[in-house]
Amino acid sequence: MLPWLLVPLLLLVSAAAAFLPRLWAASPSLPPPPRLPREGELVYTIQDGDSGELMPGRLTFIGVDGTPNPSFTRNDIGRQEAGAILAYNKLMTLTGLGAVRVPVGSYDIYVSRGPEWDLKVLRKVRVGEQAVTVRAALRRMVQTAGWLSADLHVHAACSPDSQVPMLHRVYEFVAEGVEMIAATDHNVVCDYTGVIALLGMERHLVSTPGDELTTASWGHFGILPLPQDLTRAGHGAPQARGRTAAEMFREVRLVAPEALINVHHPRIDPQIGYFTIGQYDSRSDQAGRKGFSLDVDAIEVLNGYQDADRHSVDRMIEDWLNLLNHGHLVTATGNSDTHHMTFNLGGYPRNYIMVQEDQPAAVTPQEIVRALKAHRSFFSTGPFVKLLVGGGRLGDVVPVPPRGHVRVEIEVQAAPWISVSTVSLYLGNQEHQRWSVAPGIDVVRFRQSLEVQVAHDSFVVVRVDGDRSLWPVVGDNHRYEVLPLALTNPVFLDVDGNGAYDAPLPHGKHGP
Ligand SMILES: [Zn+2]
Repeated sequence: MLPWLLVPLLLLVSAAAAFLPRLWAASPSLPPPPRLPREGELVYTIQDGDSGELMPGRLTFIGVDGTPNPSFTRNDIGRQEAGAILAYNKLMTLTGLGAVRVPVGSYDIYVSRGPEWDLKVLRKVRVGEQAVTVRAALRRMVQTAGWLSADLHVHAACSPDSQVPMLHRVYEFVAEGVEMIAATDHNVVCDYTGVIALLGMERHLVSTPGDELTTASWGHFGILPLPQDLTRAGHGAPQARGRTAAEMFREVRLVAPEALINVHHPRIDPQIGYFTIGQYDSRSDQAGRKGFSLDVDAIEVLNGYQDADRHSVDRMIEDWLNLLNHGHLVTATGNSDTHHMTFNLGGYPRNYIMVQEDQPAAVTPQEIVRALKAHRSFFSTGPFVKLLVGGGRLGDVVPVPPRGHVRVEIEVQAAPWISVSTVSLYLGNQEHQRWSVAPGIDVVRFRQSLEVQVAHDSFVVVRVDGDRSLWPVVGDNHRYEVLPLALTNPVFLDVDGNGAYDAPLPHGKHGP
């Protein structure tokens, strides 16, 4: 009996078995389950090579042996993981210790903390099923006592054209060794103070609230500091609509007399460059457009977006030297204008500003702005420049006897990964001397002391260039290359004995 009963049962089961796959196939086409990249665990430590203490820093991952560069995120909002932010192919840590998930593969890992520190490259690190541990000890190479580093042009999600959370900016800048940032979002005052405090990073980073006064018809202007007032439109940002540049600057001087007015990217693009829009010719100091004004304190001679194009940098430096030659004593600044978490990164370039006490927690925005207005700063994407003229420092007015000589002392420091290839000395708006610097890795890369003869009131400026790209720390190794470049503000020379620098050329005419 039993076999006879089994036959129909088996038939039924086999029929059902044959039908089931068809049922599966007939169901509306479901996408295959996503294949997640296999990930392994990477444990990292970054230490101060001298003290042994853990410290903030950045890991940049470059895929090797067929492994693509990792994309921890595909947009500008980083991924938060174990005390770090991961974005694109970078990891920024505040603590210097953590464990993160990394796609399985082989990587060269660049460990950095900005241009004042050396750079360690961990070659062919294999991330697999087993956790892998990497350690790097970085040493501070460049001695910057008395100088605070600051990026005065920073965007985050307060700006309609940036997604980056303010919190992630703090990770980025602390990991980069930048000690001050200015919030300069478009027509809105934002303030990093609370975010820095939330992360307990006051020891590493100070901030100033500010605004990028953004106009369609005149260009963009950094205004800082500005108090944030949440009850007002733009949280207290000055209003731009329907006003000329001269009117806007007058308004800023009235409501925030201490604030710095910094012309952002004066020639970067015809649509947003003030000098282009204002039809300003620095050689004749003439502006074609009515309402143009040079009642500003600073101009952004180097902007992070412009660094890929050395020609526009040369043009800006020429503009700035011409301004000084016509008696417009504006400070040269260099700022990233970063909007993203890739290629144009925070702190490239940055300003080094002379301060009483070189600690982020000890300086105020007011002190920084006073120093900037007094020309006590230089900007750099890497090299650190010391310039003394007749014993005077940047911004000083040094007395020189008529037809006399003055001693110029230049020292350029750079971490081994930063190239220095030429140093140029300007006397007034003319290049006075240029030196080639042999490739090397000594921290003091260049030192020179010389006597310069001066016939009339003038000023001394130093420019430093390097010829090797800073990729992969900054830039994209493709269209967007960042080279070492530094430019000092002037030491002024008073030859006629009236205690001031008198420009050789008079002010020109601005506006018909
Ligand atoms: Zn901007």
